[in-house]
Amino acid sequence: METCDVVVLGLGPGGEYAAGELAKAGLDVVGVDERLVGGECPYFGCIPTKMMIAAATTLHEGGRISRMAGSAQIQASWEPVARRIRDEATDDWDDTVAVKRLEDAGARFARGHGVITAPGQVTIEGTTYAASKGIVLNTGTAPAAPPIDGLEGLDFWTNRDIVRLTELPRSIIVIGGGPIGCEMAQVLAQFGVEVTVVEVADRLVAVEEPESSEILQKAFTDLGMQVVTGAKISRVGKDDDGFVVELADRSLHAERLLVAAGRRNNLGGIGLEHVGLEASPRVLDPDERMRVADGVWAIGDITGKGAFTHMSMYQAAVVVRDLLGKDGPWADYRAVSRVTFTGPEIGSVGLTESSARQQGIDVRTATGDMGTRGWISAEPGLIKLVADAARGVLVGGTAVGPSGGEVLSMITTAVHAEIPIATLADMHFAYPTFHRGLQPVLQQLLS
Ligand SMILES: Cc1cc2nc3c(=O)[nH]c(=O)nc-3n(C[C@H](O)[C@H](O)[C@H](O)COP(=O)(O)OP(=O)(O)OC[C@H]3O[C@@H](n4cnc5c(N)ncnc54)[C@H](O)[C@@H]3O)c2cc1C
Repeated sequence: METCDVVVLGLGPGGEYAAGELAKAGLDVVGVDERLVGGECPYFGCIPTKMMIAAATTLHEGGRISRMAGSAQIQASWEPVARRIRDEATDDWDDTVAVKRLEDAGARFARGHGVITAPGQVTIEGTTYAASKGIVLNTGTAPAAPPIDGLEGLDFWTNRDIVRLTELPRSIIVIGGGPIGCEMAQVLAQFGVEVTVVEVADRLVAVEEPESSEILQKAFTDLGMQVVTGAKISRVGKDDDGFVVELADRSLHAERLLVAAGRRNNLGGIGLEHVGLEASPRVLDPDERMRVADGVWAIGDITGKGAFTHMSMYQAAVVVRDLLGKDGPWADYRAVSRVTFTGPEIGSVGLTESSARQQGIDVRTATGDMGTRGWISAEPGLIKLVADAARGVLVGGTAVGPSGGEVLSMITTAVHAEIPIATLADMHFAYPTFHRGLQPVLQQLLS
């Protein structure tokens, strides 16, 4: 038995941050991970996929030359994308640098599967660590396959395969039209792969505003992608040419199948029952200090507050403050922002119109385009703001367009700080920027 102050079980982005910060503050911290320090984001998620998107966007921009600036010959190649992901982003899926960063901060690192074996105790490969202050859970998620007949046991791809591709297939079916499915589908299409997206909901990125889904669907079809929404998948299988997805009214065929339709929380079999929690819950619901049981904190995807790296790190900062005896601020989810990095980008924050209505808010909405800059760049765009009319503040907003995720920052500030719409509508907005497109939309809300 070894002793320490804190065990951080699972080192996703938040766990890695919390372990490092607590160690720097002088606590004796043991960080545990069975895979790679940093979790899904740097090796299989955000970073490699955004490198793919950056490459595909560059190709797409090149394709606009004939319309806007003359002519150019473009020869797409996946080789630099695969090389940059392997060499520059993931160190060939090796976390030596991340482990060193953690140890340099003063933490100890234990590689292996950790299980809570008693209150305050975590056992990793036969060694038990007794943590005097507590355990921080950041075990994250793994790709999950939906319960579709025939899917289990098939050699379909998930995000963990797609980021390791060295050659592209001729054609692919993507099951899942959420952010990950859409981002990957569009990248592959921009590199010339024949892509079909199959989504069971009646629109792409169904948690976003319907206007965002509409713009994205048009962008996909303009690119020659096939999009099937409201799909009823009866069976998935293989024939001599590849994968077959059976829908109610037809069969889809492609060389490869990517499943991006949900994630499974890594909460089963980690001994939660030893700290008075359900053994295999769907999520852990933390209080405002991220506590889920006596001496146990939870952060990241497992809390169900938004599966984002920035959420994991936000919650980690809350835990660090709590464990170091600071006085908050504690977790607040009114202004959670999210970006789908498609072309156009969909940035959104807080409540959508329908979720605001469901909460009984006195909703007022207004929409507009990305203004003069949008017209100059000849790219589609949309701004939609959701206001609480009774209080005169924004409770949500969406910015779709080039840099939609950046334009979002101002809406996020407004929602977070509850700045009166009347204060925002008459401030200075640089001309001709994308964010200037916000002004007429804000003014509509006041009229
Ligand atoms: C393709 C893709 C793209 C994404 N793009 C974005 C994006 O652009 N922006 C964004 O904000 N988010 C993005 N995400 C989501 C983001 O990756 C996650 O929200 C983020 O990694 C935070 O996850 P987490 O902190 O919950 O832990 P994870 O990153 O899931 O890490 C959990 C860690 O815990 C370890 N672990 C689990 N159980 C145990 C155990 N019992 N013992 C030891 N170790 C254990 C795992 O090995 C893993 O390293 C993307 C995800 C995917 C899949």
